[in-house]
This record gives sequence, structure tokens and C-alpha cells, in this order.
Amino acid sequence: MVFHDHPDPNEREFDRSLRPTSFAEFVGQEQLRDNLGIAIQAARGREEPLDHVLLCGPPGLGKTTLAHLIALGMATDLVITSGPALGAPRDLAGTLTRLQRNQVLFIDEIHRLPKVLEEYLYSAMEDHAIDVVLDQGPGGRSVRLGVQPFTLVGATTREGLLSAPFRSRFGIVERLEPYPAEEIQQILTRAAARLGIGLPAAPARLLAERSRGTPRMALRILRRVRDLAQVRELQEIDVAVATEGLDRLRIDGLGLEEVDRRVLRALTQRGDAIGLKTLAAMVDEAEDTLEDVLEPHLIRTGLLARTPRGRVATPRAYEHLGVTPGSSPQSGELPFS
Ligand code: ADP
Repeated sequence: MVFHDHPDPNEREFDRSLRPTSFAEFVGQEQLRDNLGIAIQAARGREEPLDHVLLCGPPGLGKTTLAHLIALGMATDLVITSGPALGAPRDLAGTLTRLQRNQVLFIDEIHRLPKVLEEYLYSAMEDHAIDVVLDQGPGGRSVRLGVQPFTLVGATTREGLLSAPFRSRFGIVERLEPYPAEEIQQILTRAAARLGIGLPAAPARLLAERSRGTPRMALRILRRVRDLAQVRELQEIDVAVATEGLDRLRIDGLGLEEVDRRVLRALTQRGDAIGLKTLAAMVDEAEDTLEDVLEPHLIRTGLLARTPRGRVATPRAYEHLGVTPGSSPQSGELPFS
């Protein structure tokens, strides 16, 4: 499993306990925050639901948190579901018809919503009604059910998979980018204070630099390092314990984990371009995870490139792994391998 994706239930609880409870506590992404703040204020002034919002970006950057903050800003509840959870039309019809006036419906992984359900959503979003088919076939009947005016907040890691007509139905489309290290440091410092453990600037910076610009990953590292500090009977996290924690998690200087290095090793050992499917099989990860979670950071750090022939390791990747292009697969063992 990839450490910074798919949180387990304990981690989700931990995430929740540290989730910002106001826009003021939400660090960074200023322009996005401003845009949402203005839209919320205007919608409230008109006593209308907020326009539908689409939040795009890699996992762990704050999309769910923003959905909570939008509902809070609109002084309403958040109803949470996800694309994969809405398997059948009746699931979505039930969710939509139960919504109260001006409520916010959050659909995570909206790109995984079955295509047949998009139609339902269209009419609910625009006409405040859905047509539920009672019987199939030539004599089929359908009934029209009313839906209260509501705001859909969709989150996606794969904006490109949404159809153009679907995307165009969102009045507000915002993209989240990985955070600079200073902002991750700020998130870590606040979280440590909330957890009641000291985190001076130097270790905070070190942890921030290894978190690949992702708040969720930063908080998970903090969680592990806090455990270590506690076992060592330290009142605060110092550089030594932060370094030991990172080593134990096998997170290297570029924020890469074992699975990232596995990807790079596969590419350098082959020494040639590899297609997505083959690469996913070689590293034993789902293609989606490889494309959405692993590759973006490897591309950003200049270690992997996508070419028309497939994925290739860059010279920097060889350097990082300490292997020479064209050398035999056994040579050049990795740190931590
Ligand atoms: P996503 O829905 O994009 O996967 P989440 O909203 O679940 O990400 O964010 C993961 C965790 O990271 C949250 O629980 C929250 O505590 C923290 N977080 C995310 N973005 C920020 C931010 N801008 N400021 C402070 N904490 C954040």
C-alpha cells in the first residue's frame, strides 16, 4: 500500500481531529480561498445555494477539508458520498431526494461515478428534479421526483476523465497544487501544537521537506515521529528523532518511499521506456495509483518522464539511485533497499 494514499480508519480519525475548522486555519491556496470566500458571501447574501464546485488535484491536498469549510461557510450540513459508493441509480436518487434546501453534497472521486448516473446528476443540478425509471422496455414508465436546490461539490484526482458537458455544469472549478515546504511546515507546527508536542523550526522544516507538498503525508509522518518521541521520552521532536523517524519510514531526501524507488528501479533496470500497464505490474500497484499518486511527484522532482513510448527514468533518477545507465540489474543497490 502507498503510505500517503488511502488512509486506514485510525488515520482518518487522526486526520479529522486535525482538520481545519475555518478558512482562516486552512493554510495556503490563497487565491482559491479568496474565490470561494467571495462566492460563499455572495450566495449567502442572495439566500441562494452556492454554485456547484469542482475541486481537482492529487490526494491529500485538502479537497475534503474544503468541502467541509464550504458547508460551514454556507451554514449548512455536508452530505458525503463518493463516486464508487454510488453504484446504482437508486443510490444516487435516494441521496438526492433526501437533500434539504441549500445543503452541500460532496461526491469524492467523482470521476468514478458510473456514466449512467451523470444524467441523473445533470437534471438534479439544473432542473432540481430527476426522472426515475420504473420499468424498462417499450412500455417503460418513469416518475419525476423533485430535488431541493443544493450545491454539488465534486472532488477528483483525474479531471481529464470527466466529460466536457459534465465539467461545464460546475460554476466554480478550482485546482489544488502541492504546497510549498514553508506552508507544510506551518501545517505541521499547528498540528504539533494541537497534539501537545513541541516541534521547533528545524525539525519541522526537515519533515516538511520530505512530505512531497502534501498535508496528509506530512501529518502521517508527524504521527509516526510523535510516537517515536514519546517512546524516547522526549518533550519535543528534535532533528535527531525526526531523522530517525524518516529513516524508519524509509522516506529519503526527495520524499520518496520504497514504492517510488521500486518504480525507478524498474525503469533503470530496464534502461528503456516501459508502458503504464507493464510498469504497474512490475511494481505491483494499480495503474490508477501509479498515474495519480506516484508519478506526479516523480515527474515534479525530475526523476521520471512520460514519453510517447512509455515511462523512462531521467539521468537524475540514475543519480539518485546511484546506478550507472546500462549497468547490470544487480549493481547499484539503493539506500534502504
Ligand atoms: P483530500 O480530500 O484532497 O484527499 P483532505 O481534505 O482529506 O485531502 O486533507 C488531508 C488532511 O490534511 C486533512 O485532514 C487536513 O487535516 C489536512 N489539510 C489539508 N489541507 C490543509 C490545509 N490547507 N491547511 C491545513 N491542513 C490541511
